[in-house]
Amino acid sequence: MESHSMQADHIPDLSVTEALDRLTAGIDPLPPESVALSDALGRTLAEPVTAPHDLPPFANSSMDGFAVRSDDLGSAGESPVQLDVVGDAAAGAVGSAAVGAGQAIRIATGAPLPPGADAVVPVEGTDQPGPMAGKDLPSTVRVLRPVRAGAYIRPAGLDVVGGEVALPAGRVLRPQEIGLLAAMGVGAVEVHRQAVVGVLSTGDEVIGLSEPLAPGKIRDSNGYMIASWVQVVGAIPLPLGVAGDDPAQVVQRFDAAVDAGADLILSTAGVSMGSHDYVRHAVDAHGDLSFWRVNIRPGKPLANGRYRGTPFMGLPGNPVSSWVTFAVFGHALIDRLHGVRPRRRLVVPARLTRDVHSDGRESFLRARLWQSGDARLVELTGDQSSGILSSLVEANGLLHLPAGVDRALEGEVVDVWLMGDREMMYVDA
Ligand code: AMP
Ligand code: MG
Repeated sequence: MESHSMQADHIPDLSVTEALDRLTAGIDPLPPESVALSDALGRTLAEPVTAPHDLPPFANSSMDGFAVRSDDLGSAGESPVQLDVVGDAAAGAVGSAAVGAGQAIRIATGAPLPPGADAVVPVEGTDQPGPMAGKDLPSTVRVLRPVRAGAYIRPAGLDVVGGEVALPAGRVLRPQEIGLLAAMGVGAVEVHRQAVVGVLSTGDEVIGLSEPLAPGKIRDSNGYMIASWVQVVGAIPLPLGVAGDDPAQVVQRFDAAVDAGADLILSTAGVSMGSHDYVRHAVDAHGDLSFWRVNIRPGKPLANGRYRGTPFMGLPGNPVSSWVTFAVFGHALIDRLHGVRPRRRLVVPARLTRDVHSDGRESFLRARLWQSGDARLVELTGDQSSGILSSLVEANGLLHLPAGVDRALEGEVVDVWLMGDREMMYVDA
């Protein structure tokens, strides 16, 4: 086995891009399943959704007003044109009278356009301003301005044309996609199964939250944080608790994850070069292991492979390193399992208000971005050592320094990866 020859000198030093490529290679999307639309938020479409009909399904008014024939109103610019009101078109009703020459039909927003009409004049363009609800139908209306044909009409298919793909496979369903699917009457969708992700913390010093804080011990922040990350990216965490620095304990928890049907196992800590770093040995003994040093700050040691066939990723132990490596690598791996279409981080330029130093690794520094007039400014949120969570909590972006760059000076424009409220922000690839 490889592990015996894994001296520090032989461990490959990978760029972030290479590590990302290797981590996601050979990861196939999970099989599709059908879910009710009400349960589909955050899931990823496994198949494109074709619109079963036009949206809107019929031409309708976008304003409260009067349906008219635009030809009747050619002279309305000089003086108001009086039309006979011959009917009332309400939303949800069909079969209103037709609009003949010199006539108008009162119409509500969303009501089907009556036959004969080719435009709508909003109430504001008539002598009948104000809300129409409850008002008696006037016998005539005076129109104050001409209208062009098609004004204030939403033709059938304006939004989506029936028979066309409305949403492609690989699209993550947000409230707006759910709304569009509902508009098309799609009550169930084919989505990729959610990944079940085992999350194991390791280390003899790590204790759970209910235990008293004994000398030399620290709380398991990683277990809670990474399980939360797993939820944010739409997967299901399977908490595996804390294993000591003991290969047998690690193996027992990993076995439990495999037996429970985990699609991915994530661990934190125990993957460095320390004498107690047993996680990678456990994986090596029961599967395939790659162990890399990635040229990333914070981060660096990263283990990857399969444990009894289940994809495995060993994140570093320091909390900020594990947060950042999840954001950079773990999220991408889970996206693969969920069949999410390729996407890129939203990167924005911002001007540094102070000098920034790093060490030449590709760096993701905790930063706060703000707008000052026309200028978008950025500064670090504080201590950048990889155990400091408070500076991560204050960050709304990650200042990105490419590999080989060890400083950026006040006034320079740098790239910042934007954080949303819960996850990093993305744009289409
Ligand atoms: P290691 O990778 O095992 O050398 O751990 C690196 C650092 O991360 C050490 O300071 C550990 O105490 C710390 N650490 C490891 N696991 C956790 C955890 N679950 N929560 C918080 N800190 C941790
Ligand atoms: Mg350790």
